[in-house]
Amino acid sequence: MREDLKFVAVGHVDHGKSTLIGRLLYDTNSLPPDKMDEVRQMSEESDGEPEFAFVMDHLEEERRNRVTIDTAQIFFKTAKRHYVIIDAPGHKQFLKNMITGSTQAEAALLLVAAEEGLQEQTHRHAYMLALLGIKQLLVVVNKMDLVDFSRERFQQIKSDITKRLNEFELEPLMVIPIAARLGDNVARRSDKMDWYDGMTLLEGLDQLEPAPSAELGPLRFPVQDIYQSNGEKILVGRMVSGTIKPGQNIMFHPLGKTATVDYVKVFEGQKEKAVAGESIGLVLKEGGALQGLTRGQVACDTDQSPNVTNTITATVFWMSGEPLQKGEEIELKCATRQVLCKVKKIRDRMNSSSLEILAEDADQLRETEVAILTLKADDYVSMDPFELVQETGRFVLMRDTDTVAGGVVH
Ligand code: GDP
Repeated sequence: MREDLKFVAVGHVDHGKSTLIGRLLYDTNSLPPDKMDEVRQMSEESDGEPEFAFVMDHLEEERRNRVTIDTAQIFFKTAKRHYVIIDAPGHKQFLKNMITGSTQAEAALLLVAAEEGLQEQTHRHAYMLALLGIKQLLVVVNKMDLVDFSRERFQQIKSDITKRLNEFELEPLMVIPIAARLGDNVARRSDKMDWYDGMTLLEGLDQLEPAPSAELGPLRFPVQDIYQSNGEKILVGRMVSGTIKPGQNIMFHPLGKTATVDYVKVFEGQKEKAVAGESIGLVLKEGGALQGLTRGQVACDTDQSPNVTNTITATVFWMSGEPLQKGEEIELKCATRQVLCKVKKIRDRMNSSSLEILAEDADQLRETEVAILTLKADDYVSMDPFELVQETGRFVLMRDTDTVAGGVVH
């Protein structure tokens, strides 16, 4: 059983995200012992609250040493479970990581400072969370000490943020007034906001539901390769969703042919059952008789079919300095399937920083811009809504061997 929960922390710069993360780590005793001591000492010396942002500077340094990872993962735990905070330095990196699949969050923590209130960026954050299908949302209104712990100010911001999120069909589970620097309502209930009878942030986090395990989803086994061994044909790949067992009837998409599982092979031998996340070999009762079975086919449940299509409409984030052109032919890679596509339409071309729509019907898409593309593929692809199966709900676009864009289908 999985116990950890991953959430992304987003907030306008200076609204106190680093301080809050530092506070969470400190209050849950999740910092390395020497760091805990250092923080304790700092607070004694300053006769007040330590500057938690320094904890983050330390983490930042670590992050810089691992150049290939531009999203930091920060760990802490409560009595209930382990948490992973995904902290992206900027929303572009975050969007890129989410779309290309290197980061997956089950929930989000959105931070707004009480004295400044909603900012233009809040809108962008809401858009991003909606795009990625992150539905569980906690909002904290930070720096309540700077507004004298005012209930009225809190209510105003709560109402503003709820309205903004509702525009994207997002509903926060709760909005919590906190002072990250002092620790009020983070792990410890504040004695300065008697008017608030809701949960502390840690209690709120413990209320989040972990994403249902991919094991419970529909069967999706994208075939990566096919080997012949001792006269046997073995389909190898990684289970991205669901379960598979000997005797099970399956259907390959887009091929549209059914088969029966003979047995599931792993390095150590045979297996009674394989689940999402496992790399396996699959031997079919049909043996080598199934015509057209190649890399890129996806084994699925016979009663839970994916969308099989050659016209793909998806939200795409463009990452190359060389713009995408309408009419261009480009390679699409979804799980193990690769097809050549023609760009038919570039709709709602958008600046991913300001979310301003630059053109409703565009001829080009430039670096860091987002748009809804219509792609016509020269063969069928088997896909799912991103919310249902992430691996078959997203794709990358490639020019030669360069990944130039990531996309999600809804
Ligand atoms: P970030 O840019 O969102 O990571 O913001 P930081 O965590 O670096 O915080 C920006 C500034 O706000 C720092 O000077 C913090 O000390 C201060 N700050 C953060 N939380 C609080 C709070 O609860 N109350 C007050 N008064 N200041 C805070």
